[in-house]
Amino acid sequence: MIVNKDIIYQNISMKKFNSWKVGGNAENYIEVSSELTLQEVLEQKKIKLPITVIGLGSNVLIRDGGLKGTVINLSRGMKDIKNDENTIYAECGVSCSSLARYAAKNKKKSCAFLAGIPGSIGGALAMNAGCYGNETWDFVSKVKIINFAGNIAIKKKDDFEISYRNVKNLKNDIFIGAWFNFPDLSEQDENEITRINKLLKIRRETQPLNWPTAGSTFKNPENTFAAKLIQDAGLKGFTIGGARFSDKHANFIENMGNASADDIEQLIYLAQKTIRELNDIDLQIEVKIIGDKSE
Ligand SMILES: Cc1cc2nc3c(=O)[nH]c(=O)nc-3n(C[C@H](O)[C@H](O)[C@H](O)COP(=O)(O)OP(=O)(O)OC[C@H]3O[C@@H](n4cnc5c(N)ncnc54)[C@H](O)[C@@H]3O)c2cc1C
Repeated sequence: MIVNKDIIYQNISMKKFNSWKVGGNAENYIEVSSELTLQEVLEQKKIKLPITVIGLGSNVLIRDGGLKGTVINLSRGMKDIKNDENTIYAECGVSCSSLARYAAKNKKKSCAFLAGIPGSIGGALAMNAGCYGNETWDFVSKVKIINFAGNIAIKKKDDFEISYRNVKNLKNDIFIGAWFNFPDLSEQDENEITRINKLLKIRRETQPLNWPTAGSTFKNPENTFAAKLIQDAGLKGFTIGGARFSDKHANFIENMGNASADDIEQLIYLAQKTIRELNDIDLQIEVKIIGDKSE
């Protein structure tokens, strides 16, 4: 079926749409190229339910049995980015890296942290993505959302309950875009492009960027680091099937080439069980596990 000019495909492998490169098929799949298509798809109920929204797929574990209903990929279109008075408006399909560079070129500061996060603005808003002392919502003034009935609204930051890698009160809302209020760069500040390059260098040195991963698998518990707990438990390098805890950063799980989603999920549960027994800490999963297990 075609909605405006966007095609709804059937039975599409999700492997190439997530950074772990695993997972089964989407029963239906659409790459929405505009707000108009998104609204028509939702409002006219032109798709099979349930709906799963994805951005660049860098924080999801899609199970091997795949996803029923319809996957809406919002990272292929909806990439408008522009200055709007003293804020920057970015649509959900803009990459975090593009926003960081756009803001830096427009003489803003504090945006460098976004440069190395390999997700979309929609995903960064949903996850409150962050690193190096900053989080996405630190700089959001308002967002444009659409609900599953196709109704569009503008909401303020205060309408959401935001915490570490978590946004409550989202219900079935999809982020269409957001207004970012990064501070202006002053004469005394370090050039933000220089900061971007410094932070990207730190990432290359500390993270296994040559392997398919989803970044940090677990949230950091209070006063400690998930990577340290996993390393101290002796799980660094531990392998199940084609998946292993990274030698470079133990909170990353690498797909060594032929991992199934189930291999990764088993490693996740192994780490949780081990850390609970050793440290009496419940590791919270940061990545979103979605879809069905294979039969
Ligand atoms: C190498 C690597 C490094 C990483 N480093 C970091 C880091 O430093 N800090 C950090 O926080 N994360 C990091 N991540 C994780 C990931 O990049 C972020 O969580 C990112 O914000 C996810 O964006 P995405 O577009 O890939 O979202 P997806 O993985 O596609 O989706 C994640 C969640 O967001 C929801 N979502 C996506 N788009 C929308 C939308 N428009 N509206 C509503 N919900 C939506 C999805 O339904 C899903 O629940 C890293 C990942 C990798 C692979």
